[in-house]
Amino acid sequence: MLEVSQLIAGYGRLTALKGIDLNVVQGETVFVVGPNGAGKSTLLKTISGLLKPSSGQIRFRDVSLQGKTPEQICRSGLCLIPEGRHIFKSLTVAENLRVGLLVRRDAKDAQHSDLETALDTFPILRKRYHGIAGYLSGGEQQQLAIARAILQQPALLMIDEPSLGLAPLVIDQVYANLKRLNQSGLSLLIVEQSTGRIMDLASRIYVLRNGNIVLHGTPAELSGGGELDEAYFGFT
Ligand code: ATP
Repeated sequence: MLEVSQLIAGYGRLTALKGIDLNVVQGETVFVVGPNGAGKSTLLKTISGLLKPSSGQIRFRDVSLQGKTPEQICRSGLCLIPEGRHIFKSLTVAENLRVGLLVRRDAKDAQHSDLETALDTFPILRKRYHGIAGYLSGGEQQQLAIARAILQQPALLMIDEPSLGLAPLVIDQVYANLKRLNQSGLSLLIVEQSTGRIMDLASRIYVLRNGNIVLHGTPAELSGGGELDEAYFGFT
């Protein structure tokens, strides 16, 4: 459903992505992992239309995304949760969730029913519904960011480092929710810095280093043999 080919992008004279080929098939959970500064956030920013590539192709459901705005891209079903979650900390949980509904043009009834489903999926958000989002814990804020993104009705959701700053047990909860969402039909493209917890959820993994994909495969193909460590850390 997503096809990225020969993507080159950067900032001024710095080329952060040096010819990326990557795809996501409907129903998959695909991870992009790599060390600090590898280009992971740049990749998601470029796919979501926040950064204009200098060359290459991005196609989503057989349509080129060239020249499309981030809003148009999200409306077409490809949405991003950026690094740091970007929830509105001074607004309530309810108000944050309503922001997720802003891109929609369908009937209010359908929106209300989806909001209820989101609150069933993330019960903590129902409990804190009228509370200020900035007072939620890191894990709760991540759940809010995911719930808000889901209300935008993505077919493919991209998430930049969902585990950033979270305790290991909370990461497990966030990942369990992502697994459930994937099982209910949502495709995922997730960026993470560490490979530690991704094997259980990943359909496929790409290792990005210094702007290049240096390894790619299923968890079964990549586990054992030390290939993953070699690609990730650049051991020779
Ligand atoms: P991290 O895990 O630290 O977020 P990353 O893999 O997401 O790392 P990017 O943030 O995509 O890496 O950065 C790739 C390269 O682009 C790095 O060299 C970084 O310094 C540079 N870079 C990122 N954002 C900008 C920017 N806004 N302006 C200039 N250079 C940038």
